[in-house]
Order: sequence, then C-alpha cells, then structure tokens
Amino acid sequence: MDRADVIILGGGLVGLALAAALDSGGLSAIVVDPADPAPRGSASFDGRTSAVSSSSMRMLDAIGVTGQVAEPGCPILTIAVADGLAPGGLHFDADEDGPLGWMHENRHLRAALHARAENGRNCWLLWKSAIAEVQRGENGVVISLDDGRKLSAPVLIAADGRNSPMREAAGIRVARWNYRHQAIVSVLRHQRQHDNIAYEIFYPGGPFALLPMIDDTQGHRSAIVWSVPRDDAAGWLSLDDEEFAAEAEAAMGGFLGPIAMLAPRSSYPLGFHHAAQMTGQRLALVGDAAHAIHPIAGQGLNLGFRDAAALAQVLVEGARIGLDLGDRQLLDRYQRWRSLDTLSVAFATDSLTRIYGISGRAASTVRRLGMGVIERISPLKDRFKSEARGTCGELPLLLRGLPI
Ligand SMILES: Cc1cc2nc3c(=O)[nH]c(=O)nc-3n(C[C@H](O)[C@H](O)[C@H](O)COP(=O)(O)OP(=O)(O)OC[C@H]3O[C@@H](n4cnc5c(N)ncnc54)[C@H](O)[C@@H]3O)c2cc1C
Repeated sequence: MDRADVIILGGGLVGLALAAALDSGGLSAIVVDPADPAPRGSASFDGRTSAVSSSSMRMLDAIGVTGQVAEPGCPILTIAVADGLAPGGLHFDADEDGPLGWMHENRHLRAALHARAENGRNCWLLWKSAIAEVQRGENGVVISLDDGRKLSAPVLIAADGRNSPMREAAGIRVARWNYRHQAIVSVLRHQRQHDNIAYEIFYPGGPFALLPMIDDTQGHRSAIVWSVPRDDAAGWLSLDDEEFAAEAEAAMGGFLGPIAMLAPRSSYPLGFHHAAQMTGQRLALVGDAAHAIHPIAGQGLNLGFRDAAALAQVLVEGARIGLDLGDRQLLDRYQRWRSLDTLSVAFATDSLTRIYGISGRAASTVRRLGMGVIERISPLKDRFKSEARGTCGELPLLLRGLPI
C-alpha cells in the first residue's frame, strides 16, 4: 500500500496547485486522476485563458510555478465595465500595488503546474487511474484503484471538478442552478493595441469579456469570453471565422479596429453551484468541486487557488504540531476560513449576472446610475479593486507571497 500525508482526487489546475503548495510545506501528496495528461501538455492552443489575480500569482511564485510558465502573463492595468456600447461606465486602474491581475493561456498554466508537481520531492501523480473504492474511516482513508493498487492517507481532498464524484459519494448537498448562458471562448488579433485593458461589456443576452494577452506585436491579441443565450450557441459556433469575427467586432463597437480569429472557438455551459459544506469525515473539497460561478468576473480559478492556499496552510501547520491531518478541528478551521469568501464572491457574481441580464431602458438607466455612483466613491472602487486582486479578507500566507 502506498502512503502519503494527503491524497488529492483530481489533477486539474487547483488539484495540482494544492499538491505543489503542500510539497512546498514539506507534506507529501498523491494526485489521482482518470484523465490522460498528454493533451494537457500539448503544444496546440485550445483558446482557453484565465485571468489570474495578483494574489494568486504571488502564490504561484511562492510555490515555484511562475518560473515554469512558458510565456509571461499579460498584466491587466485597467478593468473597464460598460453597459452595452453606451458611453460612461466604470474604470478600475492599477496603482502602486501593481497590476490588477494577469492573463494566461490555460495550457501554459497547466503545463507549469504539472511540471512543478511532477518534480516535487513529495508528489506522486497517478494519471489514467480510475478509482474502484474509497473508504473513509475513523483511522484514515484507503483508496483502491482499478488496477488493484491501494493508497492510504489521513485525509482525502476532492479536487475533481464541478460534477465531483467524490462530493456526490460523500452525500454533500449543493445549491445549483443553470444560467441561460453558454460561454464561447477564443482568441483574436485586433488592429489597435489593447493597452492592457480588460473590457467587460454587458448585454442583456450576456456579457462580452475582452481580455488582453501577450503577443509578439505589442498588444494586438486578446481573449474573449462571450456569454450568449444557450439556445443561440450552436448558431454562433457554426459561423465561419470571418462571420464570427465580424459579429465580435460589432459587439466591441469596433473600438479595437478590424479583428481576425487566432484560435479555435469552444463553448461551455454555465451554471452556479455551491456545496453546503466544504468538508466531511476526513474529506475537504477545493475548487470547482466546492463551488462554481459565472465567469463574468474571472474569479472561479482564483477562488480555487485561495482554497488550495488556505488548506495547505491549515494542514502544514497542523502537521507541525503533530495533529492527525484528518482531524475534525483542522478541517473545521479550513471550512470556517473559506466559507465566507466563497459565498460572498458567489453571490456578488450571481447578482451581477442577474442585474445585467435585465433588458429594457429603465433597467439600463438604473445600472448606469449605479455605475456613476461607484465611479465617484473611492472606497467603493478600492473594494472592487481588492476583489479583482484577490486581497480581501484574511489572506493565507501563500497568497501574500510568504512560504508556509
Ligand atoms: C469559459 C470559462 C472561463 C473562465 N475564466 C476564468 C478566469 O478568467 N479566471 C478564473 O479565475 N476562473 C475562470 N474560470 C473558472 C475556472 O476555469 C475553473 O474554476 C477552474 O478551472 C476549476 O479548476 P478545478 O481544478 O477545480 O477543476 P477542473 O479543471 O474541472 O479539474 C478537475 C479534475 O478532476 C479530474 N477528475 C474528474 N473525475 C475524477 C475522479 N472521479 N477522480 C479523480 N479525478 C477526477 C478531471 O479529470 C480533472 O483533471 C472560467 C470558467 C469557464 C467555463
């Protein structure tokens, strides 16, 4: 039987970040994932990108991931929020605290996290490994794999994504609903420079996000996350590149000039869920296994990284004073630490989605009034900036760039 301090089910971005964080604190982890890692490190770009907050970047730095990312992220220096193409709106500018976040291609983040975890002294990655049985008892956790191998640890982490088979098997209830949206993601080239501005343009049909990316032509490449009504998604996907580019250009009001598509389009159904608890007997949930939100504010992965940073700190500190890592008190500390942040971001994001989904001139007028108020009140603007940076609340050490 192979034994480690922690078994992590799921080698997505959050599971791998947790393994690397635990490794940096001297704890061992076995990551089990039924998927094949090969496509994850593949060179071709699938068009998926992520806005990574500045606090998440500090964690990636602290756990030795940043140096392995193949391409530097693109700093986000301004976030511009607009109600359709109407003038006005909100602007959040970077200040002496540095960029508001960084845009990365997911494939580079994934490859860097994979390389870091794979080279960790205390990490073992078991890909293409299906789980036959999970036993969580008084004295520990035993996992039986399909190929007959057995693994044991004092605590099990579910990082197995939004449908989390482990969360379901543990009987943890979730609040969930579907949005009427499907997100279409891709990357495009535009004639004018993006000036490191991330645009969030709200339409009643769904928000259109335009996010600055690094390129070799100084600011002519951006990612899009376009939330469209679910019933229309197939139609949008069936357009050829020129037709789609023309529609995207219109949605942007042409402010970056003519555009051309640079990556394939893919689409994702959007939904909200939030687990009633983030822990169970010798079990903790992280990332999308615990919560998933609308990508409107680019916060889902950042919430998952914050889970990983908090959980790694709780477990490393518990191990230092000799506690059983599956101890209820340790898991309760994690649950208390993460519940407020995950719930408040989830509700804020959900409210934003609903408020901007209301069509009609009256709703638009009210929204613009609201934006005008926020634009003029500096403490409110500062609060929004802290949310974007991921620096609200009691930050785990790793998110402050400190070792655990
Ligand atoms: C269109 C879109 C845009 C987004 N943009 C952003 C953004 O800009 N910024 C941001 O912060 N967030 C963003 N998000 C959210 C972000 O992508 C997710 O929150 C994040 O990827 C979740 O990572 P995860 O590791 O928790 O889950 P996943 O990436 O889903 O990984 C789960 C892993 O578990 C494995 N698994 C499945 N079943 C099992 C099992 N039984 N046992 C073991 N392993 C299993 C899977 O193979 C997979 O590797 C976006 C989401 C969408 C849909």
